[in-house]
Amino acid sequence: MSQIPYKIYLTEEEMPKAWYNLRADMKNKPAPLLNPGTHEPMKAEELAGVFCEELVKQELDNTTPYFDIPEEILGFYKMYRPSPLVRAYCLEKKLGTPAKIYYKFEGNNTSGSHKLNSAIAQAYYAKKQGLKGVTTETGAGQWGTALSMACAYLGLDCKVYMVKVSYEQKPFRREVMRTYGASVTPSPSMETEVGKKILAEHPGTTGSLGCAISEAVEVATTTEGYRYVLGSVLNQVLLHQSIIGLETKAALDKYGVKPDIIIGCAGGGSNLGGLIAPFMGQKLRGEADYRIIAVEPASCPSLTRGKYAYDFCDTGMVCPLAKMYTLGSGFIPAPNHAGGLRYHGMSSVLSQLYDDGLMEATSVKQTDVFEAAETFARVEGILPAPESSHAIKVAIDEALKCKETGEEKTIVFGLTGTGYFDMVAYEKFHDGQMTDYIPTDEELQASFDKLPKMD
Ligand SMILES: *Cc1c(COP(=O)(O)O)cnc(C)c1O
Repeated sequence: MSQIPYKIYLTEEEMPKAWYNLRADMKNKPAPLLNPGTHEPMKAEELAGVFCEELVKQELDNTTPYFDIPEEILGFYKMYRPSPLVRAYCLEKKLGTPAKIYYKFEGNNTSGSHKLNSAIAQAYYAKKQGLKGVTTETGAGQWGTALSMACAYLGLDCKVYMVKVSYEQKPFRREVMRTYGASVTPSPSMETEVGKKILAEHPGTTGSLGCAISEAVEVATTTEGYRYVLGSVLNQVLLHQSIIGLETKAALDKYGVKPDIIIGCAGGGSNLGGLIAPFMGQKLRGEADYRIIAVEPASCPSLTRGKYAYDFCDTGMVCPLAKMYTLGSGFIPAPNHAGGLRYHGMSSVLSQLYDDGLMEATSVKQTDVFEAAETFARVEGILPAPESSHAIKVAIDEALKCKETGEEKTIVFGLTGTGYFDMVAYEKFHDGQMTDYIPTDEELQASFDKLPKMD
């Protein structure tokens, strides 16, 4: 076997040509979305008012293992993919560990994260259906940025509802979106019925992802020629993100490397679901075994402290009910600095796999995350996003365990993006002003008490 290079790239020929649908190999399928009124499984016709037709098919398909990636999307992917799989030689040396560490870096595009992989797919299907535009929400701004890029490329209108606190605190992200032609509205706004209602009940609120989703869905369903798109959580998003795992596996296979541990940060679960997809597929089919670890913030611990239950995906309770590990749709996490990990629930696919004991989850404190981010940046050069740094933290911990035991484990983690727009958070960390807020059991219970009653 040849020496493993610092960066393993695939050639364009070697790039995956189809997305992999992990649900096809799951014995226990993820629970279906339910109509919030009748509690019956959502039918394709009902979902078609909210989402594009092709995406509804992908959302509901639990049996087709592969979906061909349309030529036009492959072409777009080739502008910034394949993304490199990096052997972290410098980090290994710094830690003095016998472990072999690899990371799949998704920050090599202007939006700065993996979200572009699904944004282009969702925009493509909207365009193909002849729609005028799409609406969405964005928290920290990564998803809105990715979607604006995809819509600009395809000539679609893009309306983004941005959580008000981020709109005010992250003017650079907002301007990137506007550069790509998107309209950006701070949420909650007076433009929608649900926005007005939320503002009447909570005057002065700085918003949440759940509120912004409600607004974006309302606009999509009441405006001719528009549909709603979502950057995480949904089955279709995990399907598109499988490109991450398929590339990772192909690159490792090229050098005969088999990982022992696969680690990813988990917000709504899309990058982790995508990274682990082909590996989990092998695990489900009994072909190989891996330790898989989801890492979440201690301030928003949906897998490690949440309930596995049907819940609303949004604060306004207009979306279908999803069965997932959740902290409750009314849970508003403390303003931590990993904005992309602040969602109250977790993908139904990952929730089911976790409930079946097929993967582990752990939560980490934000000061520890920034310490890991800094260690990583100083030796590997890349300035990581705070979200991604959750995975770095646990990868370092696992590598240090190997140092104690002398085991030469192979660790792969997802480095989902860059942190250039997160320098205020880095500044707080450097100035010793960062705090670690962890919700109490009482706070979580108060939120669980408001979960929808199912019969
Ligand atoms: C959005 C985001 C995440 C979390 O979202 P998932 O759907 O859980 O993957 C992680 N990292 C970055 C950089 C993000 O932008």
